[in-house]
Amino acid sequence: MQNQLFIQNSLTRKKELFKPISEPNVGMYVCGPTVYSDVHLGNVRTFLSFDIVFRYLKFIGYKVRYVRNITDVGHLVGDGDEGEDKIAKKAKLDNIEPMEVVQKYTNGFHSVMRLFNIQDPSIEPSATGHIMEQIEMIQEIIKNGFAYESNGSVYFDVKKYNATHDYGTLSGRNIEDLISNTRELDGQSEKRDSLDFALWKKADPHHLMRWNSPWSVGFPGWHLECSVMSTKYLGEKFDIHGGGMDLKFPHHECEIAQNVGSNGKSPVNYWIHGNMLTVNGKKMSKSEDNGFTPEELVTGNHKLLEKGYSPMTVRFFMLQSHYGSTLDFSNEALQAAEKGYKKLVNALKTLKKLKPSENSSVHVTELKNKCYAAMNDDFNTPILISHLFEGVKIINSIHDGSASINDENLIGLNKLMDEFTYDVLGFTTESSSSDGNVLDGLMELVIDLRKQSREDKNWSVSDKIRDQLAQLNIKINDSKEGSTWNHEE
Ligand code: AMP
Ligand code: ZN
Repeated sequence: MQNQLFIQNSLTRKKELFKPISEPNVGMYVCGPTVYSDVHLGNVRTFLSFDIVFRYLKFIGYKVRYVRNITDVGHLVGDGDEGEDKIAKKAKLDNIEPMEVVQKYTNGFHSVMRLFNIQDPSIEPSATGHIMEQIEMIQEIIKNGFAYESNGSVYFDVKKYNATHDYGTLSGRNIEDLISNTRELDGQSEKRDSLDFALWKKADPHHLMRWNSPWSVGFPGWHLECSVMSTKYLGEKFDIHGGGMDLKFPHHECEIAQNVGSNGKSPVNYWIHGNMLTVNGKKMSKSEDNGFTPEELVTGNHKLLEKGYSPMTVRFFMLQSHYGSTLDFSNEALQAAEKGYKKLVNALKTLKKLKPSENSSVHVTELKNKCYAAMNDDFNTPILISHLFEGVKIINSIHDGSASINDENLIGLNKLMDEFTYDVLGFTTESSSSDGNVLDGLMELVIDLRKQSREDKNWSVSDKIRDQLAQLNIKINDSKEGSTWNHEE
């Protein structure tokens, strides 16, 4: 039961039982960032969605090799085959080396991933580190007749490929519609057809990032790196490929064509696409200027933000929606998430203090099964969170004495709540930051002093503690099992 994982497969448009190629190993590739600017919260959402996939696969016992690349060459402004390289453009603007741009924003990306407790992949290869392999794949595609050289550049021949294969298999687009939607070539173009896409581009004299190849001094096309690096580290066929919905076409469609064009195999069994974070219904993006960086989010220093929110609040906000649905940013939703997350954290603290009784009105197995079922249903984190809140209710009713729990169920409840909150959903106790540890330690001390003063009937001290804590909106909850505290804003 716990291993019956179903995944919404973008390739078949069906929810399918997950069966890895070589159990218990799972190979997963996710398109990483193009490192020419700070990541925004929309990018974070996609990487968080796949963090959940990675965590849950490991949680249910798979050995996962997770490859997430760094795009550091070939992604052109406008996402097509013309124009400047995004990284080189930024390098010119800042008057630094392209590789300085790459380093700076790769470092930034990593610190943002850490901020949100998003786990590192097993391998993080970069496009510039795989130029030789990209040249070799282009040679294979040319040999198989699906690509042609033109004026030092090499293009994938989409119509020729489509004659024997299905270009559009992933995105569901058909080639006639694609033809009618593309511009006519102006006669100056190196391409035979407007649908063709670049595998190698000859560098013009101003182009900063360039390598030798059999065709010209130039640079690889954007889509090629992912075909090459996934094949190199996961094999010609692997289990899962992920990325944001906006990459489905053309990026992922081209990836499939390149793999089939070079080795005859459609590379991926399960394609997973994460949906977009939007602002007032519009995709958050660098070009729309409606994005804010995670730092701005934490400090609240942005026109869209009423205040700052902690990274775990944001994580909670995002996981309250399914990865396959769009999620609209709003201050109200973040404030609700802040409250919800605190409630969960407080209940987890209370849980640690509960003592078992002889009898149990609470049984944990059913709740546990529901938690697994939610995640097995295409990683349904919002449903999982609603089950964890059933757990919160149970904890609070044991705490206030209206329910009881025996030893075995208490152990089970602890395990269940901890595993799904921390291992699967990847929350950290924010008190694990140094500030939080100090605060928790201080509060424990204050609670002890209060207890001592009450036992000593030193009412002036105990009243003073109570009143001053009340002024700070800190409430102490007393029960048979001891005292807990929470901070209400
Ligand atoms: P990029 O650096 O532009 O290649 O994007 C990195 C990842 O972030 C890709 O998987 C995109 O699909 C994803 N992404 C970009 N914008 C958003 C957004 N508003 N919401 C969710 N994911 C996004
Ligand atoms: Zn990619």
